[in-house]
Amino acid sequence: MSLESKPKPLTLSDAWRQGAEQLRQAGVEEADADAELLLLYLLGLSKAALLRDWRDPFPDGKMGAWNELLGRRALGVPVQYLIGEQHFYGRAFKVSEAVLIPRPETELLAEAVLEIADRLWASPSAIAPVVLDVGTGSGILAVTLAKERPQWQVLASDLSEDALRMAKRNAGKHEVASRITFVQGDLLTPFLDDNGHPGIDIFVSNPPYIPSSDISGLQREVRDHEPRLALDGGEDGLNPYRIMATQLARLKKLPRIVAWEVGAGQAADVAEFLRLAADWDEIRYVKDYAGIDRHVIAVK
Ligand code: GLN
Repeated sequence: MSLESKPKPLTLSDAWRQGAEQLRQAGVEEADADAELLLLYLLGLSKAALLRDWRDPFPDGKMGAWNELLGRRALGVPVQYLIGEQHFYGRAFKVSEAVLIPRPETELLAEAVLEIADRLWASPSAIAPVVLDVGTGSGILAVTLAKERPQWQVLASDLSEDALRMAKRNAGKHEVASRITFVQGDLLTPFLDDNGHPGIDIFVSNPPYIPSSDISGLQREVRDHEPRLALDGGEDGLNPYRIMATQLARLKKLPRIVAWEVGAGQAADVAEFLRLAADWDEIRYVKDYAGIDRHVIAVK
């Protein structure tokens, strides 16, 4: 009897462990989680199925694609662009390098808007509000608000045609395409001076807010892969807010809710732009999971 054992076949669990180690060596922060996401994507498995099948052999025919995915992640491509998806507010959204990857803190903006709007439009006879999402990107805010409040009418704009295409795909995926009007254009420009668009009641935006000179210091995943158009907020990062606040007065009517995501340390400046632009009942901040004032919300 030979003492030599046959080479053990690589299991799914081995592949995951080796992949995670490769990513860790390459300086990837969430190496374990990313290797798992890539493996699930590659094999078309749910997490539950992976937990069930982790001792199964890794399919030979997938080795090339597995190494390719790991290699690209190791070079800094965000895992969401590799698998083409990111969850937001409990739903899966398609993403590509044409759009910013949805961030968890932006869910807090959607949540705050829903809560305030339910209070302002509480009466059963109230006419449902019109909501505008400027710089919709992947469409997360427009689609989420349309899904959560089926009576609302939704407008979504972006400067980037490629981003709008992705937002439309996501609206289609979540069956709200017919309830969202997509508009190509810069900030509020397409909606000014009574050009046929309805008056806007709720105005949400997560605009680019990184100061131009800070972009080179961002982590490589963001700097080299997320669209610069979605990041760069001009010299001090505040240009989009400055412009949108000035444009507010030229809308058909003043929105009753303006809810904007802002960068770290920007909330007070942005609140001041809003204060100078109109007379509000209240301007409040919403903190993110790191305790940073992440959203500025003005209510009338
Ligand atoms: N509105 C999108 C989001 O919140 C895109 C934001 C952006 O590209 N600046 O993710």
